[in-house]
This record gives sequence, structure tokens and C-alpha cells, in this order.
Amino acid sequence: MAKKTTKGNINVTTENIFPIIKKFLYSDHEIFLRELVSNAVDATQKCKTLLSAGDLKKVVGDPVVEVKIDKEAKTITISDNGIGMTEEEVDKYINQIAFSGATEFLDKYKDDDAKQAIIGHFGLGFYSSFMVSDRVDIVSLSQKPKSKAVKWSCDGSPEYTLEAADKDTPGTDIVLHVAGDSIEFLEEARLGGILNKYCKFMPVEIVFGTRSEMKEDPSGEKDDDGNVKKISVEVPNIINNTTPTWMLKPADLKDEDYTKFYRELYPMNMDDALFNIHLNVDYPFNLTGILYFPPLKKSMDLQRNRIHLYSNQVFITDNVENIVPDFLTMLHGVIDSPDIPLNVSRSYLQEDANVKKISGYISKKVADKLASMFKKDRAGFEALWDDLKVFVDYGILTDEKFAERSKKFYLYKDTEGKAFTHDELIDNVKGVQTDKNDKIILPYTSDAVAQHSFVTAATDKGYKVLVLEGPLAAHIVSKLEQSHEGVLFKRVDSDIIEKLIEKEDAETSLLDEKQQETLTQILQAAFPSDGYELKFAPMSPSSTPITITISEWMRRMKEQQAVGGGGFQMFGDLPEKYEVTINSNHPLATKILGEKDDDKRNAIAKEAADLARLSQGILEGEELSAFISRGFKNLQS
Ligand code: ADP
Repeated sequence: MAKKTTKGNINVTTENIFPIIKKFLYSDHEIFLRELVSNAVDATQKCKTLLSAGDLKKVVGDPVVEVKIDKEAKTITISDNGIGMTEEEVDKYINQIAFSGATEFLDKYKDDDAKQAIIGHFGLGFYSSFMVSDRVDIVSLSQKPKSKAVKWSCDGSPEYTLEAADKDTPGTDIVLHVAGDSIEFLEEARLGGILNKYCKFMPVEIVFGTRSEMKEDPSGEKDDDGNVKKISVEVPNIINNTTPTWMLKPADLKDEDYTKFYRELYPMNMDDALFNIHLNVDYPFNLTGILYFPPLKKSMDLQRNRIHLYSNQVFITDNVENIVPDFLTMLHGVIDSPDIPLNVSRSYLQEDANVKKISGYISKKVADKLASMFKKDRAGFEALWDDLKVFVDYGILTDEKFAERSKKFYLYKDTEGKAFTHDELIDNVKGVQTDKNDKIILPYTSDAVAQHSFVTAATDKGYKVLVLEGPLAAHIVSKLEQSHEGVLFKRVDSDIIEKLIEKEDAETSLLDEKQQETLTQILQAAFPSDGYELKFAPMSPSSTPITITISEWMRRMKEQQAVGGGGFQMFGDLPEKYEVTINSNHPLATKILGEKDDDKRNAIAKEAADLARLSQGILEGEELSAFISRGFKNLQS
């Protein structure tokens, strides 16, 4: 029987869309496979829908999609046993609807930077096949009874042909005649890699070639131990897991299922996650997923294992910026939501109401999880805290609601390693660390070794010194002060302890004003002329005679400036500025004042100033060398 061939034009208004498709999607050619395989998956799933609606009486075969390479013919074929298409349907869905979808996309994105990743996220669908093909054939037989097979063919010009075809089993074959500049896709490793990236968790089995498997010999022949012999057989290579863990009910899952899935997601990753959160919501938007908390101390891995975004089990991207709250991009795992608009630009995404809700939901879920872990197993939570703190701190700084929720579980650790919630801490230090202005002062150290003498000075007085390390510390303490009234954080080395927590019953000074003036002149000359401001404080005679500090305010400004933000940029680079506190009750003060010999007196003052600077690590270079050789000389005299 002679075949009747229909010719037609896809669209009269667009001259030739295919070169434009190629050009636009330049950086993301590989997504053609995602689009075609997900169409095939959809087509098989539609069978189920039609069956249950009674529109189809029966469906041939279990749903399966197959991807084949024919190197000789230079073709890639994506086959499915889904609903198939009649001639009318090909005309409707491929010639009209799909094409107008592609044209609309191009209209919208004409002016955008072609390399912007978001373009690859657009469901360009079937026509993305022309990015890699000279010609594309569709051979399809509809599941509808008495259907005739049909072949559509198009070479990348707006012209197509439509003719009868030989196909016995219902379903669709998409045959790509791979273009000369795209032959890389004929390589099994390349194509397999793309399937693994985009189709790893699609809901219908996807077969790609075969793999060998050891199976019992059907002849039943036994080996020496009496076991049936095993032989190597070729079996279809199924590349995907059709029921990924995030799609299952949390109640049906054990800890090891989550661990296993973490490895499945990041096969190159060596470490297990600390814990996970299973997300599941269907109102007011659909979202499922599992977020894993990685051990953060190994921050090198942060960028490698990123959260994967899926839409109905189809991989979209691992760039989830704007979708999950910023601080949670440090997490690992999967988010699957058909409600995240993927076909719009990133700036639009930020404004999208659904995305905002999703972001808020995830943030809440994470806070709730942390709160419940804290409640259920405090000791376990405390043990994890050092790994969690960076997330939480970052969250507090960037997400107001998260900051509020974190009050339930935010932990302060002191230099003895004890952990307190904010309320517990305040209960503990109230009165003891309340200063004369009725503020509760919380001294903290950013480095207990470097600030050792200051830490000891505080703990000797019975004060708790908190450990707040890391580059965010300055931002964090400012933030915590805002959210907790009546509390002031002061780094332990920002002043002498008597000033840090100033009490009413301060010691009285042994020096009168005149003596202080004289001593100031002598000592000021022993310090460099710039950046050292001297003041007196009556302290216990056994405390340090001279203490150098940088004020809390000045240091915070500098730190916040270094990390960025904080609004201090306008000051430009801040100069070094030290406060020198002289203990007016120390015997050294009296000794310097009592020394009549000018040279001797100045030498003692210089030595004292140098020692004070040395203890802060700010005696350097020539001055340090001079100090050391003087010291050696003194040993000999
Ligand atoms: P989308 O998938 O976003 O609807 P496409 O351009 O990918 O857009 O496909 C257009 C239409 O062509 C589909 O909606 C579907 O009706 C039909 N189609 C594409 N591929 C297949 C297939 N393998 N089997 C059956 N129908 C298909």
C-alpha cells in the first residue's frame, strides 16, 4: 500500500526557529534529554489516568522508557510505551501547541543573556531536540483501539512531513538524527551521565543499555558446595530509582534509609549527615524533600554537595538560591516542588509569592526541627551544637522569624564547656554580672588562648565567660543585644574586668590627681605617640599594673566592617586605637612616681609599656628586638 505523505508548515509567521533555539540554549544543550525522557515518562503515566477514567480499556505492557544509541546510524532513540499519539494528536500537540510554546519562550527571552542558566530551566519541551539534531522523527501509535501508527519528520526547517508508519506496539519513539556538532551525545558515557543527572529519580523505569548480573544457572547445575552455579547474564540497565526516599512516608522510614539515600544523592561524599528533616506539605503549595545537615566543620565540602531541586522527580538545578533561605543553602538534600516557577527569570523568582512561602516554610521547618531535637535530647543537641552554630548564627542574622524561633534552642557555651539557653544564662548570672546601671553584662572570648589573662581575670571574679568564636561573632552579639533587652555583650579583652562589669563599690585610688597627671606624662612618653590613650583605674594592688585594650565599640566596628555590613563602611579604614589602663593602686605606679633619677624612671616606664604591649602582641619589629636585647643585657648586670 502506497503511503500518503502530508506536508505542512509549522508556523507561517516564524521563518526558521531552529537556529535560534540552538543559539539560545547554547550553554545547556544537554537538557534535550531531560525534556524528551520526561515527556516519555508523562506519556506512560497518562495511561494510568486514562485507564482509571475509563477512557482506555487496557494498556499494553508495564510502563517503561528506553534510551538507545545507534552509533552507526548516528541516532538516539527515546522510546516509551505510553499513550502514543494519533495523526490528529501529533498535529495538535507537536505542530501547534508545542511549537507555540517554543516560540513564546523565544519571544520572552530574546533580550536575555543566552548563557543565563535559567533558560535551561524553561520547559522548552519537545523542540529542544533540535539543539542536537539535524532531523527528528516521531513514530507513534496511540493506545486508543484501532489507531494507525504515524510518522512525523522534520529537518529543522519549518516544514514537516506526516505519513503512515509501521509500528505494532502502542507508544512513541522519538528518533534524533544527531547533528555533526553534537556527536558527543552518541557516547554512552556522556549520555549516561546526563541521564544520571536529570533522570536519576524519575517515576518510571528508564532502561539504558544492559549490564551484567550474576544469576543462578537456569540449568540448575550445582558447584562443589552443592549451591546452584551462578552465571553472568545481561539484564536491562535501569538507571533510575523510581521511588526516591523523599517520596515515601516518614513513618515508613528508618534512620538507615535516610543515610542510604544521602549516599545515593552524593556518591562522592565520604561523611554522613548529622541529621535530616523530611519536608512534606501539600497546602498552600506542594513540596516534598529531605534536607540534610552536613558536619559543618568540614566547610570545604560546602559548595560541592548542594541542594538539588526537582520538579515532579525531574532534576532541575542544584542552584537553589532564592528558593531556600540564604542560610540554608549550606544544607544538602533534595527539594521537589511542581509549584516553583522554573520558566521565569531569577529576579522575578525572588518576588514570586509561592517562592516566598516556600522559603518561609522551610525556614520554619528547620527551626521546629532544631527545637524538637533540643527538647527531646538535650545532651545530643549540645554535642551537635558546634556544628550547627554557624547555620543558626547565619540564620539569626538573615531571617527575622528564624531569629525569634531560635530563642528556644540557641545555646551559649562558657569557657568550661557548659551550655545554656538565653533564659538559663540570665538566671545564672543575674546579680553577679549586673553592673551599676542595672545591665547584665556578658563577657565573651573569641579566642580563649589569646585572651587568656583577660579570661582568668573574669573567671577569678566568679564571672562566666562565653565562647563566641568565628567571623560572625561581632554581628551576632549586636543582633542578640537587639533581641534581648537589658543585656550587653563585651569581649573580655575590651577593658579591664573592673570596667567591663562596673560595680558601685569600686576601690578608691591611692594616687591623687596631681600624682596621676605626673604619671600620665611619664608613661605617655613610653608609648608610641599615636593611638594610645591613657586612663587610670583604682584596682586591687595584685591586678596587672598596665592593661591595653581595644574598646568593644571600636573592635565591633572593625570586625563588622571586615565581614561586611553593619553600616560602618562610611568610616573608611579605622585606625588602631588602644586604651591603656593604669592600675593606680599597683606598687609599680608608686615606684615610678618615687624614682628621682629621670633616666632610671623613664627606663622603668618604657619597660612597663613594652611589657604591656608585648602581652597584647603589638610590640613588633625594631622595638621588639630592642626590648629583647635590653632584657638579655639586664640578665648580665
Ligand atoms: P510539554 O511537555 O511541556 O507539554 P512538549 O513540547 O514537550 O511540551 O510536548 C508537547 C506535547 O506533545 C505534550 O504535551 C504531549 O501531549 C505531546 N507529547 C510529547 N512527547 C510525547 C510522547 N512521548 N508521547 C505522547 N505524547 C507526547
